[in-house]
Amino acid sequence: MIPLLKEVLICLKAGRVTLPYPLKPMSAPPRFRGRPTIDGDKCIGCGACAEVCPPRLIRIDDNGSTRRVSMDYSRCTYCARCQEICPTESARLTEDFEDATTSRKDLTVAVDLELAPCTDCGTPFITKRMLAKMTAEFSPPWMKVKLETPEWFHLCPACRVEKTGSAIDRSVKHD
Ligand code: SF4
Ligand code: SF4
Repeated sequence: MIPLLKEVLICLKAGRVTLPYPLKPMSAPPRFRGRPTIDGDKCIGCGACAEVCPPRLIRIDDNGSTRRVSMDYSRCTYCARCQEICPTESARLTEDFEDATTSRKDLTVAVDLELAPCTDCGTPFITKRMLAKMTAEFSPPWMKVKLETPEWFHLCPACRVEKTGSAIDRSVKHD
């Protein structure tokens, strides 16, 4: 009996050790790895995040002149590789930890981007935002000489191989 009373006294002395969540709202600590997202204003549709996502839950789908970057984060492991690789700080992990839902649709993010056509065959192949970023970085404002962008910037992978004889995209096979 005495050990039991001692235990009760220790517990009473300690007071409350749990948080009142969810009765009171809680915020996550800084740099917490919560729900991932993609900023539609910043994304250029480069696809780097899709390449590095271990559970392959980020998809890049081209449909006509639109590229959709979509993320189904129901299987997210919160590894933050998408955040690390993203060149525009568009993919990032938020501090939101409340993912419980009855609909899987709530766990998705999608961004639609306009594609630019190949100047040779007309096939849409690169997002306009990505082309603009590549062009701006090829000849940055601090360079005294303004460089013209090479023709292959505007060619789809197939036409690039045909015209220049080299495949930047290694998935394109030489005949
Ligand atoms: S945090 Fe990891 S698992 Fe989640 S979307 Fe980003 S890369 Fe994929
Ligand atoms: S979120 Fe970032 S890495 Fe992913 S497609 Fe957009 S710009 Fe590229």
